[in-house]
Amino acid sequence: MTKKFYQLSARERLEAMDLTPSLTAFYRERQSDEMPNLIENYFADFTLPEGLLRHLVVDGRSYQVPMVTEEPSVVAAANNGARLVGQAGGFQSHQTSQSLLGGQILFQDVAIDELLAYVSEQREAIFEAAKLAKPSMVERGDGLKDVQIRSLAGRRASLDLTVQTGEAMGANAVNTILEAVKAVFQPFSKNIVAAILTNAGHDALVTVTTQMPVSLVGGLAVAKAIVSLSAFGKVDPDRAVTENKGIFNGLSAVVLATGNDYRAVEAAGHAYAGSTGRYQSLSTWKLDDTGEFLLGSLTMPVNIGRLGGAIAAMPMAQRNLELLGAPSLGALKKVIVATGLANNLAALKAVSGPGIQAGHMRMQARTLAIQVGAVGDEVLKVANGLAAEGAVDQNHAKKILGEIRKNDA
Ligand code: NDP
Repeated sequence: MTKKFYQLSARERLEAMDLTPSLTAFYRERQSDEMPNLIENYFADFTLPEGLLRHLVVDGRSYQVPMVTEEPSVVAAANNGARLVGQAGGFQSHQTSQSLLGGQILFQDVAIDELLAYVSEQREAIFEAAKLAKPSMVERGDGLKDVQIRSLAGRRASLDLTVQTGEAMGANAVNTILEAVKAVFQPFSKNIVAAILTNAGHDALVTVTTQMPVSLVGGLAVAKAIVSLSAFGKVDPDRAVTENKGIFNGLSAVVLATGNDYRAVEAAGHAYAGSTGRYQSLSTWKLDDTGEFLLGSLTMPVNIGRLGGAIAAMPMAQRNLELLGAPSLGALKKVIVATGLANNLAALKAVSGPGIQAGHMRMQARTLAIQVGAVGDEVLKVANGLAAEGAVDQNHAKKILGEIRKNDA
């Protein structure tokens, strides 16, 4: 019997893909022993650059922060923002002490009174089912902590479960508990539409703040410009989405470097940004009453883990946690959010001042150099040539590369 594609080894998959010899050789060189079991139909590793945020100070502790991103300027911006905040003593953080993740059992065509009465009657059975589904969690002091019914429009309801997930994100654990609790609702089986975790993260809020003398950002005028731009993020969703993208530039780079699920963190962040009914920027920048200090804060849900998921399976994620100083889960969350706020500060300062284009184009010049075929030290030479000419486009990059090669010949 011939094997299905997903049953083949990574090597066999390349053969089945009917590629040119050079493409086969290319992908084969990029196959590893660590990754094949992480996803389905694996055929190669895809690498991204990793850069360092050299000093991020949060709650008095300095961290070396690994950042994985393909976007130029992100790591430079994080370093820039973190350096300014570091001079003011660093970031402060506030968060709930336990990691909590939510789950939902969704009901339709349901009489809410009947459901409420049933939940109240079966409360013990619900907790018992959760415990039997994940006894290991209960042994650690984790597991199901709360159950609430929420009435929704059109005779719908959500049974909201709050699960304490320990050192893991807990997505699979919550789904396992939900399956077991669903069985308790046998009398409502016709009404149940789904039992699935929620990425909303209502109980996973992390706040990071900073208070810095306005002199550190270049004086009162610059601080006021940052505050003015930040205010647009509160009233205009078009501005807010761009500001939040800048926050996730840094934040997601650390989430990814530590092997965590950046889609979950981003989805939760965007939902929280819209939680007032209008999509707003996640950060707030204002002046204190004296006008001497710039105050920044960023609050958002962060459901991540320092174990579980793909973390143990990815050597880079393991090493990156080591590089961070093996932080507790709480410390890792605040490092992640502080990096987002550092990027946010750098972006607001640049956009409200000289604009981001100059810095971006400097980094873009290197990317362009690579695009036109520059290798090794040619990359920096072409980038410098583009900066000197003040024209950053492919034609100029090709011309400069040609000249460098002619001179070196
Ligand atoms: P795992 O399924 O890997 O569960 C965590 C593992 O760590 C369990 O085996 C657990 O053991 C073990 N563990 C050991 N010590 C601890 C401790 N102190 N605290 C907690 N766990 C401990 O991972 P998660 O449940 O965290 O799920 C995360 C993964 O799920 C991510 O890869 C994510 O991408 C994915 N996912 C995300 C979804 C979403 O966001 N919507 C949906 C579905 C999956 P034991 O079992 O004995 O308790």
